[in-house]
Amino acid sequence: MIRKFISKVFSKARPKAAQHIEPRIIPEKKHGVRHGQINSCAIKVTAELQRAGYAAFVVGGAVRDLLLGKTPKDYDVATDATPEQVHHLFRRSRIIGRRFRLVHVMCGSETIEVSTFRGPAASAADDDEVADFRKARHATNESGRILRDNVFGSQVEDALRRDFTINALFYDPSSGEIWDYIDGYKDLKDGVLRIIGDPRTRYQEDPVRMLRAARFAAKLEFHLDPATRAPIAQMGNLLEDVPPSRLFDEILKLLFSGHAQRSLKQLRAEGLHHGVLPLLDVILEQPMGERFVTLALHQTDLRIKEDKPVSPAFLFAALLWHEVLATSQKLEAAGERPIPALHQAMEQVIQTQVEMLAIPRRYTTNMKEIWGLQARFAQRSGKRAFALLAHPRFRAGYDFLLLRCESGELDMELGRWWETFQHGSDVQRAGMLQPDTSPKKRRRRRKPKSAGASADTTDLAAED
Ligand code: ATP
Ligand code: MG
Repeated sequence: MIRKFISKVFSKARPKAAQHIEPRIIPEKKHGVRHGQINSCAIKVTAELQRAGYAAFVVGGAVRDLLLGKTPKDYDVATDATPEQVHHLFRRSRIIGRRFRLVHVMCGSETIEVSTFRGPAASAADDDEVADFRKARHATNESGRILRDNVFGSQVEDALRRDFTINALFYDPSSGEIWDYIDGYKDLKDGVLRIIGDPRTRYQEDPVRMLRAARFAAKLEFHLDPATRAPIAQMGNLLEDVPPSRLFDEILKLLFSGHAQRSLKQLRAEGLHHGVLPLLDVILEQPMGERFVTLALHQTDLRIKEDKPVSPAFLFAALLWHEVLATSQKLEAAGERPIPALHQAMEQVIQTQVEMLAIPRRYTTNMKEIWGLQARFAQRSGKRAFALLAHPRFRAGYDFLLLRCESGELDMELGRWWETFQHGSDVQRAGMLQPDTSPKKRRRRRKPKSAGASADTTDLAAED
């Protein structure tokens, strides 16, 4: 019933009709989220707003996660106070954003994002950068895309403009009530991920919602509602219209959700990986590609669980490695020498990747370093081994080497050698060094640098 009404609201006289939806109010004794579980900064912000006479609720992912017994990453608050009114109430706050302004309220080291209820045209896709990007790309009118400026709205409109029903629940810490305008609570209990409104329209408005669908379904192990899922297969190409930096942020969220393995599987199941990781299919078909990628994703998930730092460059280097290897081998087979072949392969693979998903340069530089270091691990003679140990990226290169050993690409003995070598005493290390068996190194010294050699000045040339 409510859904039928919502689709009417979405299609025609949206703003007015929407005002008539009454929320279902779920009391604390039913939903079970306790006041003590809520972040104290979020409580302070909502209480202060309410004391000043405004409506204020914790909203979005935090409510969803609390109901699922998970610890929220961050807290968002929604209110009917304008950004200026919010800013006026909190000394440590600042207004951000150009078109749709939000307020960041700081308590201690924490920041709570406070947004004013938004109307139907507004969405997370209305970020300034997104709007600018679309305007630049589609100077002429393109149907379905949200281009107009945001407007404030009522609470129910704010619920309806959100992405999924389970992300549109409002929690009032002072009463302990959850306000539910669109059956989000039921979907949450049933483990269903359902987009709000007409799926096609909502994906057209903001294609990133498709990626979010895959991410939440995988992360929460929720069932994607069939109507929410169906259009994704044909609409994936709309991701091309998303500004590269937003796409990259969204993919990082997916890869570092703690459920990268499941998320990537879901992405492939929906056919969405073509738009973000165009090489994934080929890589998974490489002889050891799938094992390597699976292992890298598994280790990433473990590190997140253990609260260890994770590096986007390392993970992207791992995701693309087997294509670098395959390309480099092809180039060698065509007559190129190993080191220039490796460097050309790195460039080619990155080029293909960034055409779809732009990885920021600071990461690609790092990825190339990690890949480039790999050849040096084969060199276990005196000077070379010590030089590698002293390299600022040794740790990342070594972790990558271990991944290669564990996946079966290399003999584990090499990984163990470096493990012992890096932790050994001077005497131990001296005893471990192997004779320098690189005759070409000497030849190279006599010769001027060849034009084809890479700009990389590492000892890699000795491999040549
Ligand atoms: P996470 O755990 O990843 O932070 P989240 O649901 O909090 O999940 P955010 O990206 O922090 O996700 O967004 C906060 C809320 O804003 C969402 O819960 C949702 O209600 C709304 N939202 C975010 N992105 C969109 C979007 N693209 N379209 C519509 N609503 C969105
Ligand atoms: Mg969030």
